Amino acid sequence: MTSPELWEKWSAARVRAAHQAPYLATALLALDRVLVTGASGELRRFPADPGWHVYAGVEELARQSVQEVAFWLVHQVTHLLRGHARRCPGGVVEPLPEERQTWNLATDAEINDDLTSDLTPEATTPAHLGLPDGWTAEQYWHALRDSSRRHGHDLPPTTTPGDCGSGCDGLPRPWERDDLPPALSSTTARLTALDTARRIRERLNAQDDVPAGWRRWADQVLEPTVSWCRHLSAMVRHGLTQAAGRVDHTYLRPSRRAAALPGIVLPSLRRPLPSVTVLIDTSGSITETMLAQALAEVTGVLRAMGVGRRLLTVITCDARAYRPQTLTRVSDLRLDGGGGTDLRAGFAAALSTRPRPDLIIAITDGRTPWPHRPPGTRVVVALLDPAGRSPEWARTVHVEGAP
Ligand SMILES: [Zn+2]
Repeated sequence: MTSPELWEKWSAARVRAAHQAPYLATALLALDRVLVTGASGELRRFPADPGWHVYAGVEELARQSVQEVAFWLVHQVTHLLRGHARRCPGGVVEPLPEERQTWNLATDAEINDDLTSDLTPEATTPAHLGLPDGWTAEQYWHALRDSSRRHGHDLPPTTTPGDCGSGCDGLPRPWERDDLPPALSSTTARLTALDTARRIRERLNAQDDVPAGWRRWADQVLEPTVSWCRHLSAMVRHGLTQAAGRVDHTYLRPSRRAAALPGIVLPSLRRPLPSVTVLIDTSGSITETMLAQALAEVTGVLRAMGVGRRLLTVITCDARAYRPQTLTRVSDLRLDGGGGTDLRAGFAAALSTRPRPDLIIAITDGRTPWPHRPPGTRVVVALLDPAGRSPEWARTVHVEGAP
């Protein structure tokens, strides 16, 4: 096959993959293809790397059908979205070859029980491992390790050995190109994951079918640890907003009384919500995990405010404040920062926006100088690091799961 024919096949496979799993479309489009010659046997699975490159062997691309290539694209993008390289047991310590293979099998089992209808024969499922569907890779990993300790064999004989690349375990492979810039930065990859999770939620809300593994994953990705709903409704209840006491008559949602008066739309009562500005600390001390958790908390704030109906103002801040952004979903957020920390700049920017916010939520590790108490505006500090410091005049909530 000529090069243009190969790329045509690649594109057809990607379209097919996006058709099979529409919620993965953005992620599939973000994959960057790298054509490799002379490593055919090792590239049967179109392995990826954590920089979102997919290595396509010329011979393999020519040999496999569009359907098979589509399967591997969905499979590899799943390794990347679910952070299997980051989750690899032992982390940065180099695992032994058999450990690497066990982790590959465990992650494949986590992925492939959701893809049963389109499986290629080489794909490992939990059934091949003699284990139930629906577990996490870590659970399969421990079960495989226990069984190999008890029975002495390395890998279940029912599985086909294969290599899903460093996208699965983080260890560089010989065919990988370290001269290529990552197709996605780690932050953009996080945003792509959040966007994918949001699409999964949308499909679920529309009663569309989404595999159980993806539903669980989306819940986990989008789950804030703080009950923003409780915090925001407490503010409204206690009359802390500038608009307190004012109750709007709105025609947006029909009143329940309307049922008794057919043909007449009555205004329903809606309490005004506080105007909220979120400050996100994007300084260099914020780790990738903290940032991901910060974004999940923003999702929680948006959800508490009524997703899609209200705009949230978000200001990212390191030693200086970046331009305020208004958004209805977290995937629209542009993240600027990476320098030193001074959230005072962020507070000054937030307080100069109009209308002035009733509430400022500062999501930070707390390693920042704090301003004086801003008059007339409530402040909630969401601390990403238990060792961080927050001022006495603010209400502090601890964000869990962001070491
Ligand atoms: Zn795999």
